[in-house]
Amino acid sequence: MNRSLFDQFTRLAEIDSPTGDEEEIGVYLMEWLERYDFFVVKDTVGNLYGWRDGQGDSFLFSGHQDTVEPGRGIKVELKEGIIRSTGKTILGADNKASVAALLHAIQNTSMADCRPIEVVLSVGEENGLAGIQQFDFTQIKSKLGVCFDKSAPLGTMVMQSVEAMNFDGEIIGKAAHTGTPEKGINALEIGVQVLSEVKMGRNEDLLVNFSQINAGVCRNAVPDSFSFICEVRGYDELVIQQKVEDLVDLFQDKSKAMGSRLVYKTEYVYPTYQHDTHSMNARYIEKMLTKHGCAIEHVISGGSSDANFFNHNGISVYDLGDATINPHTTDERIALVDLEKMSQIMTRIMKDTGSVDD
Ligand SMILES: [Zn+2]
Repeated sequence: MNRSLFDQFTRLAEIDSPTGDEEEIGVYLMEWLERYDFFVVKDTVGNLYGWRDGQGDSFLFSGHQDTVEPGRGIKVELKEGIIRSTGKTILGADNKASVAALLHAIQNTSMADCRPIEVVLSVGEENGLAGIQQFDFTQIKSKLGVCFDKSAPLGTMVMQSVEAMNFDGEIIGKAAHTGTPEKGINALEIGVQVLSEVKMGRNEDLLVNFSQINAGVCRNAVPDSFSFICEVRGYDELVIQQKVEDLVDLFQDKSKAMGSRLVYKTEYVYPTYQHDTHSMNARYIEKMLTKHGCAIEHVISGGSSDANFFNHNGISVYDLGDATINPHTTDERIALVDLEKMSQIMTRIMKDTGSVDD
């Protein structure tokens, strides 16, 4: 079966695959890769690993199978060269534009005219990179790879990405009837006081976000609980850790001083990375992109992608602009010409059987 790129994208977009529901698309992708000479393994969480033989140094393409919501019953429209949904759902171009471009490039190449190709299509990417964290990186043979998973024009290269830590907790006070507040310890009051001392949003090189605050259970009782979740993002592991420790101290000291106690957990979410701007690898990726007329732009990303975990595991993976506009919204779109160009870039990389330092 030979599909046009637009048909390929539409087929993928119309298979529902919100995070946690990647089963059907996983089967589709596995069959497609096997049809085009890939040896494919699905791990216990649903990540797909594929390998196709060829000549020269192998190269890795990474992508993710899942989408955000609303991502069910997607209908794809093409109008004046722009691909979008009907407006009731996301489009799923994040990351299916890249996956479709990859399948299309695979379909139009063969073992005989390509380098060995390695493919990793993860699940649960949109859930804090949950899938790739379960992946067995020891099976990867490539030293270099790309994922097109940054919402930015083609030619964009993420050279540095953030790291994140979670701080989730609950202040435990004491319940009492509204009529006798002195018998209780108002956890909500304590929580609000502590939060008023926290600078949220951008803190120099850090991003601090408190969300999902909950307190109390009914109208006529002093709330005995105040729970929260918080995420701290930044570029430096030690700075992030210090910030989280400071927050823990602040919450703990205040809770204690006001007669309550704090229960909490902190958790490292994903590792950061930094690519060397002048490395052979960076120049190689730039060369592949500029051959298709892309203007190179190096950026620092405040978000994350599966590339964080590849880089953390010693495989140099560049997260590249995927030409999507407004992903994670019902106004998500991508130009067909960009989708085609992305596939051509992938094809060029596949057919380049020389080594990176040539
Ligand atoms: Zn994505």
